[in-house]
Amino acid sequence: MNDIPSLEEFRTEVREWMSANLDVRTPDARAPRHNDDHYTAEYLATQRALQRKLFEGRLAGITWPVEYGGRGLSGAHQVVFSEVAATYVLPDFGKTYQTTYGVCGPTLLACASDEFKARHIPRILAGDELWAQFFSEPDAGSDLANISTRAVRSGEDWVLSGTKSWTSFVERCDFGLCLARTDSTGGKHDGLTWFAIRIPSEGLAIRPVRQIDGGTGFSEELLAGVRVPDRERVGAVGDGWAVTRSMLSFERDSESRSQGVNLAPGPLSPDITRLAVAAGIESASVRQLAATAHVGDYVKEQVYARAAAVLGATAPPLGAAAYGKLASGILDPARARVGMELGGMAASVWSTLDVAGPDPGTAYLNGRMYSIAGGANEMQRNAIAERVLGLPREPREDLS
Ligand SMILES: Cc1cc2nc3c(=O)[nH]c(=O)nc-3n(C[C@H](O)[C@H](O)[C@H](O)COP(=O)(O)OP(=O)(O)OC[C@H]3O[C@@H](n4cnc5c(N)ncnc54)[C@H](O)[C@@H]3O)c2cc1C
Repeated sequence: MNDIPSLEEFRTEVREWMSANLDVRTPDARAPRHNDDHYTAEYLATQRALQRKLFEGRLAGITWPVEYGGRGLSGAHQVVFSEVAATYVLPDFGKTYQTTYGVCGPTLLACASDEFKARHIPRILAGDELWAQFFSEPDAGSDLANISTRAVRSGEDWVLSGTKSWTSFVERCDFGLCLARTDSTGGKHDGLTWFAIRIPSEGLAIRPVRQIDGGTGFSEELLAGVRVPDRERVGAVGDGWAVTRSMLSFERDSESRSQGVNLAPGPLSPDITRLAVAAGIESASVRQLAATAHVGDYVKEQVYARAAAVLGATAPPLGAAAYGKLASGILDPARARVGMELGGMAASVWSTLDVAGPDPGTAYLNGRMYSIAGGANEMQRNAIAERVLGLPREPREDLS
């Protein structure tokens, strides 16, 4: 039995709990960070403890089912939570927050067995399990059904072999949600199955990839006979494409869900204000660049808010989810370019002691991430064209 508080009752509850249990966020509380290398095991342990605190206060998983440790409330309650939480320090898992709570968790809730969910979901909400996504491979990105990682049944286990690529932040995670081929006799969308691989596991080798910004946010995984018990299978054997579609739709709209509560335009964002002031706000071209960034921020927020309003709590259709994803894929690189133009030399070359200069430079180097990750811009346009606008499908030789 779940008592549903009214939105105002819930706002009061969240406010009181947060003011008693969390630190207030200060605008520049943390030193600027230019890659993700500060997510050490020690740092993550403190963030996991903070997540456990939320869980014990019944404020983790606001919309997730009560039987698995969530609160079972509505999307409107989630918005109230986010509004109050905006002024407090919440657990910081970086992008792993999105893969765990925005993508893998909702996919497991939608597709895994009750027994699987009872074992994993409370631990996810308590911060004991962080999850990575093992789906891309060297020959399977946009064409994901082309994967060649195999899973072969061996008694009560499955044995997985293959290579996964571009996995984000695997070293922080406790499990990887992995797509594998369990049957090669049918079409490429058939015979696929998802598994939860424990990290570390015998036979699982992780090779970090050093990026252009100096960080190691990605890795490649070599699976050489990794044993996974059948109880760690997600969804039915051979039903992996349905799970994939669910996961991709959560991935593409998770950003819309996590943001976009404001319909009114906000003030000029602090990073652009700082850059514009340093560049000389009296210059017409500086003001023009600042306005361009501001309009882009506002448009993105509107797209997110509109998308979040129509998407609801369950996995949205892939076409609808594409809008928010495409907004990031187009607007993030454009904003990163504005930052470089405003930052000038300080954004291009800096001393290792300089904490303020490098932000626009690293944002520029990373600015294309969302035009590729989770499905490139072209794939989002294809999804909108075919699934929303009803335009003819592209010729698909691989399906004939
Ligand atoms: C920041 C980031 C994080 C990521 N994190 C993860 C992760 O955690 N786990 C994971 O498994 N993967 C991850 N990825 C991988 C990501 O999902 C793939 O890079 C993405 O799906 C694109 O695949 P690809 O790189 O193989 O490019 P390709 O599929 O080779 O595409 C190359 C180009 O061809 C275009 N193209 C391909 N097919 C079509 C078509 N039919 N119509 C029109 N254009 C087409 C694409 O749009 C793109 O421009 C991540 C990637 C990035 C950038």
